Amino acid sequence: MTTPLTVRIDGKRDDLIQLTQDLIRIPTLNPPGENYGAICDFLNKRLQASGFETQLIRAFDTPGDSERYPRWNIIARREGTSLGDCVHFNSHTDVVDVGSGWTFDPFGGEIADGNIYGRGACDMKGGLASSIIAAEAFIEQYPNFSGAIEISGTADEESGGYGGVAYLAEHGHFSPEKVQHVIIPEPLQKDRICLGHRGGWWAEIKTKGEIAHGSMPFLGDCAVRHMGAVIHEFEDKLFPIMAARRTEMPVVPEGAKSSTMNINSIHGGQKEQSDDFTGLPAHCVPDSCRIVIDRRFLVEEPLDQVRGEVTDLLEGLRVTRPDFEYELTELNSVLPSMTDKTAPVVETVAQAIEDVMGKVPEYVASPGTYDQKHIDRIGKLKNCIAYGPGILEMAHKPDEYIGINDMLDSAKVMGASLETLLLPQKS
Ligand SMILES: [Zn+2]
Repeated sequence: MTTPLTVRIDGKRDDLIQLTQDLIRIPTLNPPGENYGAICDFLNKRLQASGFETQLIRAFDTPGDSERYPRWNIIARREGTSLGDCVHFNSHTDVVDVGSGWTFDPFGGEIADGNIYGRGACDMKGGLASSIIAAEAFIEQYPNFSGAIEISGTADEESGGYGGVAYLAEHGHFSPEKVQHVIIPEPLQKDRICLGHRGGWWAEIKTKGEIAHGSMPFLGDCAVRHMGAVIHEFEDKLFPIMAARRTEMPVVPEGAKSSTMNINSIHGGQKEQSDDFTGLPAHCVPDSCRIVIDRRFLVEEPLDQVRGEVTDLLEGLRVTRPDFEYELTELNSVLPSMTDKTAPVVETVAQAIEDVMGKVPEYVASPGTYDQKHIDRIGKLKNCIAYGPGILEMAHKPDEYIGINDMLDSAKVMGASLETLLLPQKS
């Protein structure tokens, strides 16, 4: 469907390309958190020129914040001419490590076959650029809109969002009195609406033993064998239970509809030597072993149960296995988030996808978490989705790219959503 607004957005194609390239060319690598100030300055100039009032906010004393790597965020707000709802587009500005295997310059913003290439092109500078173009086109088309539009560029999503959305939410920037609808343009595909994500629970488990000479292990107590017993219990009891659980959440890909757990790392005994070490190992019974687990859980599973399942299994071993001693340290946890399908922002964007692309949208949920968790739990704002251009599987890969036409289509969907939410005559 063509409307005056979609025509206007098509007219901004070159601007959209340039903006995306400019954003990619600011290397905002996280870790360590490079150029957060530079990208906020860039967005500040751009959005002020479009009539937004801006605030630059540093998340002091959050993980990684330092004078060398300050955690800068920007929130820009443009008021309409009458009262109404505020629609907020939130994008993270950080990108992950480049890695190897690139054939394009990761920070060049080169164009080939209708795509723009670079680290962060898809996750999620293309989405950020689309939301800015959508908002600017909307404001030009309807200078007398009601309510307000906000655009934020936030730090550290790739490392948990504590120096970004979590900080802003703690300081009231996502309170339901101030913001009514949130769209996060993560690369979930232009015809899909992401309603939320699974939860996560990260913990460290240590088993203890007693050091002794390797030729007489019976004089010591092997911590690695104790950990072996833990992993055996996981294999025997926990993994089958998790695999049998199926969520009502529309999580993609299919495998993530079950509970999952990754064992991130295992280490026991003597310190690992560097690769150039040519000596032989000393003969010792290991007195400690450590694993880190990454448990992803479903909206149907309470966090207490997730925690309890692992603790019960360890306690069981303590009772049945001689000399079994363990320590469990929780590292972090994130609750699942799931926006209702009947929430206003969901219904609005779904209708906009149908209008713009003539397609019934697909509803999905993300296997991993993203900043919606903070908007939901800290901000107490339930009317939040992820919607944006790009292919999720492209995120964090070499030769990451974003399709120019996909960005334009997404911008049109965002624009049509603003028409529904901010033009009183339409409702
Ligand atoms: Zn992302």
